[in-house]
Amino acid sequence: MLNIALFGPPGAGKGTQSERLIEKYNLFYISTGDLLRKELKEETKLGLEAKSIIASGGLVPDEIIVQIIEKTITQNPESKGFLFDGFPRTYVQAYILEGLMIRLNTSLNCLISLEVDEEDSVARLLERGKTSGRSDDNEEVIRNRLKEYYDKTLPVLNFYKDRGIHFAINGANSIEKVNEDISEILQKELSKSLLNIVLFGHPGSGRGSQGAALAKKYGLEYVSTGKMLEAEIEKGTETGKKITELYESGQLVPDEIVVPLIEAKIANSKGIKGFIFKGFPRTLVQSYILDGLLKKHGSAISEIIEIQVPMLELISRLDARSKTDRCMPYDSSTEKIVKRLQEHETKTVPVIEKYNQQHGVKKIDGMGTFDEVFEKLSNVIEKGFRKI
Ligand code: AMP
Repeated sequence: MLNIALFGPPGAGKGTQSERLIEKYNLFYISTGDLLRKELKEETKLGLEAKSIIASGGLVPDEIIVQIIEKTITQNPESKGFLFDGFPRTYVQAYILEGLMIRLNTSLNCLISLEVDEEDSVARLLERGKTSGRSDDNEEVIRNRLKEYYDKTLPVLNFYKDRGIHFAINGANSIEKVNEDISEILQKELSKSLLNIVLFGHPGSGRGSQGAALAKKYGLEYVSTGKMLEAEIEKGTETGKKITELYESGQLVPDEIVVPLIEAKIANSKGIKGFIFKGFPRTLVQSYILDGLLKKHGSAISEIIEIQVPMLELISRLDARSKTDRCMPYDSSTEKIVKRLQEHETKTVPVIEKYNQQHGVKKIDGMGTFDEVFEKLSNVIEKGFRKI
């Protein structure tokens, strides 16, 4: 879930930005101002109690705010999170929000403060008053709303600064620029909740076909360095030409080539739930690189899985594959098959051992049908999603 609060003085642009964000991130919008105006319009008991306070630009008592928010939240829609606008407005309301989030078994990701000068707020609200039809958009009430903001609402920021989830943005910029700045923060937040899987297994263990199928089923991006290198060769890029030369002379592709490719893949993947890495990391150095690449996006490895298949079965599978049209250039002879298995033993097995000590590696029995193994892997991924 992505739960955010937009903060700032009246006229900072919270409503305008909210409209864009709720659509882009599928968030459920909670504007206490809108909810109060609805109660007013319907002349409910709560609405009548709040009427004169809103008209004068004062803050409505916390008891009323709790009731209207609780009513809305418990309708519990199919949203990916909540966007709060105009709440919390007092220090007490910051605790109320904590309580609400705990009840929903979630928490606030960030509070984004749109910073605007007092006189800019007044000018914007007077302009809005010409068309908003809001009786509180007149100069006298505006001044009072701003006074309430500086006296009671601004101190709320300290609550979030202390928790390290406060982000300030220059609200005087254009609507587009402010939207970009907010999106950048939210993208980082979303990265934190990505499910990143490293899928290990010897050549012939089925990691490639299982990885691709898992990625498809769970909306994850499949990152296979082997496939990415092949794609470069096919596209005939400069990098592709270099890779061909290295392949032909039997050398390994250096990290200087692989890393930028993965970096670009991570940076260009939008709207995904996470990554499945296959064929990377292959060495201890690459395991450090992967941590760094994910960290750059505010993310980290979530689960490490190894598909285990006995050596004789691996050889028999790779040998069988070499006789079909699925034969890869690197399993066309017994010599090459043995070389690949040896490479895995000497370079990659130590990486798996290191991960096992640090994070724990989920070992999956790779014997059995594709579907049987797929089901076991799916269970690990679903558990991973629940943890997030
Ligand atoms: P807004 O639409 O957010 O500018 O809110 C309009 C008016 O509703 C405010 O001036 C307050 O009188 C009242 N109000 C909205 N949200 C709150 C809140 N969280 N706490 C107290 N009063 C609020």
